[in-house]
Amino acid sequence: MGKKISCTGIKPTGTPHIGNYFGAIKPALELTEDYDARYFIADYHALNSIKDPVEIKNSTYEVAATWLACGLDPAKALIYRQSSVQATFELSTLLMAFTPKGLMNRAHAYKAITADNLENNRDADDGVNMGLFTYPILMAADILQFDSDVVPVGKDQAQHLEMTVDIAQNINYNYKKELIKIPQALIRDSVATIPGLDGRKMSKSYNNYIPMFMESNKLRKLIMKIITNSQTVEEPKDPDTCNIFSLFKLFATKTEIATLRNKYLAGGMGWGSAKKELFEVMDRTLSPLRIRYNEIISDKSYIDKILDEGSLKAQEIASQKMNFLRKEIGLG
Ligand code: ADP
Repeated sequence: MGKKISCTGIKPTGTPHIGNYFGAIKPALELTEDYDARYFIADYHALNSIKDPVEIKNSTYEVAATWLACGLDPAKALIYRQSSVQATFELSTLLMAFTPKGLMNRAHAYKAITADNLENNRDADDGVNMGLFTYPILMAADILQFDSDVVPVGKDQAQHLEMTVDIAQNINYNYKKELIKIPQALIRDSVATIPGLDGRKMSKSYNNYIPMFMESNKLRKLIMKIITNSQTVEEPKDPDTCNIFSLFKLFATKTEIATLRNKYLAGGMGWGSAKKELFEVMDRTLSPLRIRYNEIISDKSYIDKILDEGSLKAQEIASQKMNFLRKEIGLG
């Protein structure tokens, strides 16, 4: 029996942030010891929102360099460009025939846009392209082409993963056999939703994110911008509803967490000093990664080589699966 398969992707829509790291990258890297890992840069997903070729290309390098700086070993784990694997798009077309339109209507991301449009007196589908509307189908193809067992993602992707399972089940049910493996989302409770500067989910779409590799000085300034309530220095504060504390817990040791918790509860600590403590643990963890990242991002030909090799292997695996499926469904 081969190893189980782990699969996940990140869109090249800007610099990866702390939410991406704890929600997806770190858990995904931890799986690379025991699983066959297939991680990709979701550039066709990014195309739905980014139409500038230079931007998408640069961001692809940034995402790839992030994976590598955080410890992805290309000898052990696949890392590739989604757009280089043609079979994914054929599988996506196949999956369309098994995806009720109503399922897409219910996707959270799509529903959020239509709700916002209606609230602002625009047509419900204003600014929605078909790539965005059918996004969960392409995502299902990304995952199902490898017969993936687990998909490490943040909580925001839970519903899309359920859709992947629905679509796969529709296929297996129709052909009365398991043509496609049913995958499982891997969502860790402790890092399911990392908060951003304003307390909402950290996201590039909300512009409330902390980039992973910001230089120390800029990082300090950004942390000082975290939005807090108007409690005075003297007042005791609740660590469990504070986004500074939530972020601190991700980077600090158990003892440091207990100490800061006590300072919150005791009162006499202002938000400024809580932010300073957050900056210190964050910078301590991110500095060595930043050094590696800067080295890697300055060597684009190295990144291209890794991505080309990964893409070739991914294409080989995915096209085998596609050949198998074509025959099974009567097309080959
Ligand atoms: P964004 O929401 O910033 O556009 P992506 O959609 O590219 O990021 O997400 C890439 C991965 O990072 C996904 O697995 C997603 O669930 C995870 N992720 C993104 N933001 C967060 C967050 N705030 N907390 C936890 N995981 C997150």
